[in-house]
Amino acid sequence: MSFRRAPNPNRNHPLHCPWCAGEELFPDEADDFAWRCRDCTRIFSVRYHGQDDPEHRPAPAPSTSEAIQASLHRHGHQEVTR
Ligand SMILES: [Zn+2]
Repeated sequence: MSFRRAPNPNRNHPLHCPWCAGEELFPDEADDFAWRCRDCTRIFSVRYHGQDDPEHRPAPAPSTSEAIQASLHRHGHQEVTR
């Protein structure tokens, strides 16, 4: 958990109401994260709490030069100019 950030109400917005799947959603004054559904009149909040570091990170990608060298080696080219 090295880079948790404070929740930002302007970061993203819901596209559908979680109860009725209505698409007419408008910001509500209940709090900075609240949305009002015009179809079912419910008010709900969507809040991003942060992001944790992944349990397993992918290996760093090789550079283009390293990838070319590895490809040539796999295909049987022994002498490669750099
Ligand atoms: Zn709704």
